[in-house]
Amino acid sequence: MAAAPAPAPSPEVVAAFSAAKGFMPEHEGLALYAAAAEAAALGLPLLEIGTYCGRSTLLLADAARAAGVSVLTVDHHRGSEEQQPGWDFHDPEVVDPETGLMDTLPTFRRTLHRAGLEEHVIALVGRSPQVAKAWGGRLGLVFVDGGHTDEHATADYEGWAPHLAVGGLLAIHDVFPVKHDEWTGQAPYRVYLRALESGSYEEVSATDSLRVLRKVR
Ligand code: SAH
Ligand code: MG
Repeated sequence: MAAAPAPAPSPEVVAAFSAAKGFMPEHEGLALYAAAAEAAALGLPLLEIGTYCGRSTLLLADAARAAGVSVLTVDHHRGSEEQQPGWDFHDPEVVDPETGLMDTLPTFRRTLHRAGLEEHVIALVGRSPQVAKAWGGRLGLVFVDGGHTDEHATADYEGWAPHLAVGGLLAIHDVFPVKHDEWTGQAPYRVYLRALESGSYEEVSATDSLRVLRKVR
């Protein structure tokens, strides 16, 4: 018997994803969607760290909608180090003219609204470790795509992985075993290694820089 095809997002959501600002390539996004669809079957919320303008959030939201669960997405919306003015990943369109600071929240809201997915997503605006400390519920998926320094990536893992249910999935973006560029760094790779070495996770899939692990104990 042939294996069942991997679950895929709707064509409308793929189109909205392609049109959205952000950093998730499509083939990695499809792997993220498949992980989200599997994790959503646990009936628990899916959590993303690193909303930015909502590009990857769309895929999580599509999977959550199908399963009747919610997506929680955490970001202070002030941008990572490499997205600040003068740096390689800066986008002047997401600067608030009044404060002069980055503010990706309005663009994120437009992205979700256009795709008709607003009601499936809860935006948590704040610093990831602080939100994690205030969060008490269990999660079906933790998707780590926030800051790329060791300080941020480690805090994301330490803050959120304990909330992941056994059987749930830990997805990590920007995992580069070999140094990729000046900014992406290898902190996500070190977090991935740490999760595996903890003995609590088994690898489910690897799609370029997206790794998906299952919490097994
Ligand atoms: N998932 C997005 C890309 C995220 S970019 C996509 O698919 O396009 C990384 C985001 O993490 C930025 O928006 C930045 O503001 C956020 N971020 C970085 N460090 C953070 C922290 N400590 N707490 C909350 N958000 C953080
Ligand atoms: Mg990323």
